[in-house]
Amino acid sequence: MIRHDEGPFDVVVAGGGISGTMAAIAAGREGARVLLVERYAALGGMATLGLVQPITTWGINGTYVIGGTARRILEGMIEREPDSATELTHYGPTCDAEYLKRELEQAALDHGVSLLYHSWISGVDRDGDRITALRAVSKSGELELRGDLFVDATGDGDLAVAAGVPIEEGSQGITLMFLLSGVERERCPEYQEMRELYRQAGPLSYRLLCIFWAQRPDSVYVNMTEVEDLDGCDVGDLTYATIECRRQAWGILDAFRGSIPGFENAYIAQTAPALGVRESRHVQGRYILTSEDVVTGKSFEDTIARAACPVDIHGSQNAGLGEYSGVKRSYGVPWRCLVTEQMSNLIVTGRCISADHVAHSSVRRMAPGSALGEAAGLGAAMSLAHGDVRTLPVEPLQEKLRSYGAILDPE
Ligand SMILES: Cc1cc2nc3c(=O)[nH]c(=O)nc-3n(C[C@H](O)[C@H](O)[C@H](O)COP(=O)(O)OP(=O)(O)OC[C@H]3O[C@@H](n4cnc5c(N)ncnc54)[C@H](O)[C@@H]3O)c2cc1C
Repeated sequence: MIRHDEGPFDVVVAGGGISGTMAAIAAGREGARVLLVERYAALGGMATLGLVQPITTWGINGTYVIGGTARRILEGMIEREPDSATELTHYGPTCDAEYLKRELEQAALDHGVSLLYHSWISGVDRDGDRITALRAVSKSGELELRGDLFVDATGDGDLAVAAGVPIEEGSQGITLMFLLSGVERERCPEYQEMRELYRQAGPLSYRLLCIFWAQRPDSVYVNMTEVEDLDGCDVGDLTYATIECRRQAWGILDAFRGSIPGFENAYIAQTAPALGVRESRHVQGRYILTSEDVVTGKSFEDTIARAACPVDIHGSQNAGLGEYSGVKRSYGVPWRCLVTEQMSNLIVTGRCISADHVAHSSVRRMAPGSALGEAAGLGAAMSLAHGDVRTLPVEPLQEKLRSYGAILDPE
């Protein structure tokens, strides 16, 4: 592994979530010198540090669909270590965070990616329409990370904002996920009955029961704490949300223990190290994916990824149910959602791509995020020779993505 101070790099990826990791792997596989910068000490982002599971896939007609390198990595992990995740059901697999951290890290290293943890990106150096370096704060002081191409996979569009690219603000309920263990699964009622029992219990009984069985038989991931109308990029709001959600988690534990058979001895094994922000900034790209595109299953000439996850807007609307509706067909995501008018060497991927509020609520999931990441990384590697991400010929990119198992065509 090349150290971060042995740059400049061909491609610098900011943010080691599922999308940034796939981007780094895809660029590294093409032979680019890649640096992946992450503020925490593991890869996976929400999928590991956020304890967010399952990896939601397409969700049409109960089918399990995830393509490309992410599929290969997950299948390989499950084959080698059957207790690393639940089976690939129509929900997608529910993975153990520790296995997934190790798997993603090893996959990145195997593809020649240099990792830099413990480094917060705080700004960019810009020369005209090009970013020349990232600035990061770290225990070693301020870092200057030089590169040719940059991928913004921070989820919040931190690079785009620092470079002066326009963004739209969005907001959904913020959640601190937690893992409950000590559950006697064989004594638990069916899901709907649990939901009804929980509904009748106080003091947080207005929250809909939302749990996912983990790969360990005595554990569930709990997706139930929530605060809303906060800014996911405001440190004061993030602090308040963390404290409030952690308080709620203990109340939810009491309600579980007191109302659902099998949960009497449950305990909080872990609250997530990273707070779950569903939505913050949408970078304004050359195309903005719309709710109509998602609902009508639109395809584009420059489609570089497909998704079909339900529209899912969390919050207290509809008596706490939020807005949730499946889509009937998969839709394409165009390359233009990953690139901006302003910058010639910036590619955006994952949660902060160019999409409106409703489209975002579908495309933000982890299977699409992985597919977008692979396209971003491959596109970055191909742009090194081409020079400008905005005019990259997309057909060769699509061809190459297909050769790695990406799903680009309608079902
Ligand atoms: C509570 C909750 C429940 C969800 N449920 C599901 C679900 O059931 N299924 C599903 O598929 N999806 C779900 N999602 C959505 C999904 O988990 C995320 O949208 C997706 O994982 C985002 O991936 P990403 O790689 O774009 O971003 P992230 O996973 O957020 O990764 C971004 C990475 O960048 C790093 N980073 C950010 N800023 C900086 C910086 N300035 N410097 C350095 N590093 C930085 C972060 O630490 C992080 O590792 C849920 C989300 C939440 C919050």
